[in-house]
Amino acid sequence: ILETEHVSKSFGSLEVLKDINLKVKKGEVICIIGPSGAGKPTYLRSLNQLETITSGKIFIKGDLFLHREKDHTIADVSKAQRKALLLEMGMCFQRFNLFPHKTVLENVMLAPITVKKEHPQQVQAEAMELLESVGLADKANEYPSRLSGGQQQRVAIARALAMKPEIMLFDEPTSALDPELVGDVLQVMKDLAAKGMTMLCVTHEMGFARDVADRVLFMADGIIAEEGRPEDLFTNPQNPRTQAFLKSVL
Ligand code: ATP
Repeated sequence: ILETEHVSKSFGSLEVLKDINLKVKKGEVICIIGPSGAGKPTYLRSLNQLETITSGKIFIKGDLFLHREKDHTIADVSKAQRKALLLEMGMCFQRFNLFPHKTVLENVMLAPITVKKEHPQQVQAEAMELLESVGLADKANEYPSRLSGGQQQRVAIARALAMKPEIMLFDEPTSALDPELVGDVLQVMKDLAAKGMTMLCVTHEMGFARDVADRVLFMADGIIAEEGRPEDLFTNPQNPRTQAFLKSVL
């Protein structure tokens, strides 16, 4: 459903991603782990075009979405196609960035109404269902500032899901939370995985990666240094860098 070939990204002379090759199948849950500076968030941001890759190819749903070499675009899709394909990817960030002057329900309803021009009544019903599924139906009419960080992040997940994406990208969604609030957010992500959502998660939560991922990627210095099923990668890492990293975090 999502594929990158030889993706590289530099910021000036700093090469942050080096030749990343990955194929994500529909319904697959992939966790990306690795030390700081590895380029994990940059990779996610390159997928949904918050960063422009320096070179490589990105395929979405089997179609070539973007091909660049040496900072020049070789091929891409039409503007309309680009918009449509990017809507297939929902994203949650470390910071939730809810609109402070809108209620929880309004936050979830906004994009389907303004971007997709869906019918407000239908959107409201779906938004309430989503809030129910993240355990926050009773907070629908609150403002974000009245919610805990964990609750706000669950609203942010519901807001991304309201656009009915086929793929969800998570960039360390629990890293800004107090430890006691992490569990509820991870549970929402687990539920989503169980429902068959395709997910790419950058995470420091090794327990989550072990329980939920179909595949774990260990990134270091801009490359995928090792990948495997969680039961293999966590118990029997092959690469010395993976071994050292896991030793430091487990
Ligand atoms: P984290 O620290 O959150 O675990 P990460 O360190 O794995 O993430 P990135 O945030 O992708 O990876 O950053 C990788 C490198 O790229 C870092 O050295 C960072 O300073 C650099 N970098 C990221 N974004 C930019 C930018 N917009 N301009 C210049 N350098 C950047």
